[in-house]
Amino acid sequence: MPIKPENRARYPADWTEIRAAILLRAGNRCEWPGCCAVNHAVGYWEGPNFTQICMKDEAASMDVEAADLADGFKVIEIVLTIAHRDHIPEHCDPANLAAWCQRHHLAYDQDHHTINAYMTRKAKANNLELPL
Ligand SMILES: [Zn+2]
Repeated sequence: MPIKPENRARYPADWTEIRAAILLRAGNRCEWPGCCAVNHAVGYWEGPNFTQICMKDEAASMDVEAADLADGFKVIEIVLTIAHRDHIPEHCDPANLAAWCQRHHLAYDQDHHTINAYMTRKAKANNLELPL
């Protein structure tokens, strides 16, 4: 997940180094159990399995379009992101961080996003209820 601009100041100054260390620990693969999607691999999801066609830097030199190789599946590039298991950007203990592909990071954060969206809607609704 990209860092939201409003949260950027909550990340430590050495976030770039912390992120690199977590990717190194993960061997540049998604750390979600059962997922071995590789950072910058190009391919497609078929159920729970990712099929790698090539790496991003190879895609441009391929004779065949990657989409043709995927035969109807949506071709994507895996982008590993660093997740905070407790959703607190300041908490950068390695045990709290995980390198996850976008699919698994989103799956993990889904409940958190749902609650945040609800709270945002509620706050906006309350603002509309303020007396003039
Ligand atoms: Zn994954």
